[in-house]
Amino acid sequence: MTFSHEPATPPVPERNPTGYDVSMQVEFHDYGVFLPEIDLWLDSTAPQRATWISHGHRDHARGRHERVLGTSTTLRFYRMRLTVEPQDREPEEFPLEFGETLDWNGALLTAYPAGHILGAAQLLVTYKGERLVYTGDVKLRPPLAGVTAVTVPCDRLIIESTFGLPIYRLLSREEARERIVRFARECLAEQSIPAFIGYALGRGQEIVSILCEAGIRTAVHGAIARFIPIYEEAGYRFPGWEAYDARETAGKALVIVPTHGSGLKARGRNIRIAYVSGWAALSNARARSGAEELIPYSDHSDFDELLDMVTHSGARHIDLVHGYTEPFSRILMKRGFEARGHRAGAGTNVEDAEG
Ligand SMILES: [Zn+2]
Repeated sequence: MTFSHEPATPPVPERNPTGYDVSMQVEFHDYGVFLPEIDLWLDSTAPQRATWISHGHRDHARGRHERVLGTSTTLRFYRMRLTVEPQDREPEEFPLEFGETLDWNGALLTAYPAGHILGAAQLLVTYKGERLVYTGDVKLRPPLAGVTAVTVPCDRLIIESTFGLPIYRLLSREEARERIVRFARECLAEQSIPAFIGYALGRGQEIVSILCEAGIRTAVHGAIARFIPIYEEAGYRFPGWEAYDARETAGKALVIVPTHGSGLKARGRNIRIAYVSGWAALSNARARSGAEELIPYSDHSDFDELLDMVTHSGARHIDLVHGYTEPFSRILMKRGFEARGHRAGAGTNVEDAEG
């Protein structure tokens, strides 16, 4: 698959060979991370004067801010989620594409791919000679749809830790593709209906793309279908996808959102459910999801990828947000890193987060 408007991975800066203390001020709040010296929030979910939006998931792209920064794709997702009343001022947009740099209150901001969902970006903040990287949600392995992430050398790294426990080892995109197609074909061969549970933005489109490319008739729930045109504009193909209609499901694979899974089962049709998520790696995933087929594939890094990013960033301070922040910080400290877990952002109820 190729991208039409997201450029190739930009080159990353050299590591800084001279050691010094990291002094840039960073505040961690429940609703986001704040850089007071340059008056910029990172993924604030409460309205602010200015915030960087790392990607289009609902727990990051929200709040009626005065100024918003992000890739143009992310800003489109943000606008789709935003309700602007007639009396409200429209947020002022500052698009920043991969490899581009913007001067912001004395700092240089550069965007790098995060490999998470379409448009997802990491932000490098260079201020008074120091380099801080905020990854947002990130995945190091090549995604099915999106630009592969890079590890950006820095002095301080703020990284998510959704899957920051060694039990999380997730499938590669090739393994996930093979498992999804095989399950769909098995079900259809025995006249049952395969239903794949994926999140509305990101995983959902990846599953639809795999099934369509394999020539399998695929019906797509509206919450997933509404984002397909943006993926198509970016160069992804979904040949022959159909809108989901509960009365016409025979001979098709269904791609639905998690909240729709229990309703499907209740219909009593010969439906077999597959759960495509990093949470499928949990021992109680079958009971939690009600699915018989568990496919541990995610748009987040698994444990080894997180360790890889932390190690190769060269950062001397590691801040963890989202997911298993406390246990992962202890793991990092045992390995000699200076690491701290924070409650910033959503996902404090770890296993209910999108994963
Ligand atoms: Zn996300």
